Amino acid sequence: MRPAVVEYVAARTLEEVLAALADGETAVLAGGQSLILELTAQEAAPRRVVDINEVAGLDMLTESGGFVRVGPLIRHREFESDMIGGALGELMRCVVRHIGHPPIRARGTMLGSLANANPAAEWPALAVAVGAQLELIGPRGCRTIAAGEFFTGPFTTVRRPDELLLEARLPVLVTGTGIGYAEDRRTTVYPQAAAMAAVTVTGGVVSAASIGLVNAGPCPVRGRAAERALTGTDFSDAAISAAAEAAAEADATTADRRAFQTLTRRALTRARDRCQGASSIGAR
Ligand SMILES: Cc1cc2nc3c(=O)[nH]c(=O)nc-3n(C[C@H](O)[C@H](O)[C@H](O)COP(=O)(O)OP(=O)(O)OC[C@H]3O[C@@H](n4cnc5c(N)ncnc54)[C@H](O)[C@@H]3O)c2cc1C
Repeated sequence: MRPAVVEYVAARTLEEVLAALADGETAVLAGGQSLILELTAQEAAPRRVVDINEVAGLDMLTESGGFVRVGPLIRHREFESDMIGGALGELMRCVVRHIGHPPIRARGTMLGSLANANPAAEWPALAVAVGAQLELIGPRGCRTIAAGEFFTGPFTTVRRPDELLLEARLPVLVTGTGIGYAEDRRTTVYPQAAAMAAVTVTGGVVSAASIGLVNAGPCPVRGRAAERALTGTDFSDAAISAAAEAAAEADATTADRRAFQTLTRRALTRARDRCQGASSIGAR
């Protein structure tokens, strides 16, 4: 199929990006790994695209004030290196290795994935699980939205058509947090289901837990019931099983609750194996 014919704007500054977006009918071109396919299949029909790849300052990746700050031109593959330390970096490295394949990771961006809001994508679930903040910029200035309130349905978010997703701020995970990831993937194109976990143990007891589920509903899911089930326990097999059962209940698709139960159990078991406080856990 031929791509839809659209006007192309190569922006050089943020002001040019915002000017192009002002008509509300312009799509941002970041890595193009989703947008170009949609244009080719004529699933997307913007009046024009604004290419942000040459805009200075959008390739920011820093850690400051307890947050990892990610700009719109940071490609997936940047998270494969050990540039981001601690448990958050470890979780991101685990997750990113599963996204598509190397050429996709070389071009696609984290913020493009968040803006695209595919329920089967990994980054949206990670952003929701760790409680990321997302900053949007538009003609009315900047606004910050919690990732948990950003996604409104499959491929839809609270982003207005004239706004650019400018930054994702991911809180670093405290020292001693163990992370785990597990997914069911049958092709290189998106997982069927996945679960991720970050668990902190203090004095032999789970003091904090973050659990994210991929493709468990129209939006990325934070497994709050599973987190509650795990917090305050000794992180034993029984506690993990109870949390995994609670995670399965969060699956809004009802398609395969057993998959989410299994994947959450795996992710939590891996998190326990990596958890610095796990040596003090007696009941395994
Ligand atoms: C074969 C294949 C396999 C894939 N497998 C996976 C996978 O396993 N897991 C996974 O998560 N993803 C997968 N992807 C998708 C890939 O991760 C994309 O890169 C990602 O979804 C979109 O990022 P992008 O930078 O390419 O965005 P683009 O394609 O450029 O844009 C996607 C959408 O987001 C908008 N957008 C982009 N950036 C911004 C911004 N800063 N502000 C506002 N709007 C913006 C665009 O206008 C467009 O609507 C796969 C893609 C392909 C082609």
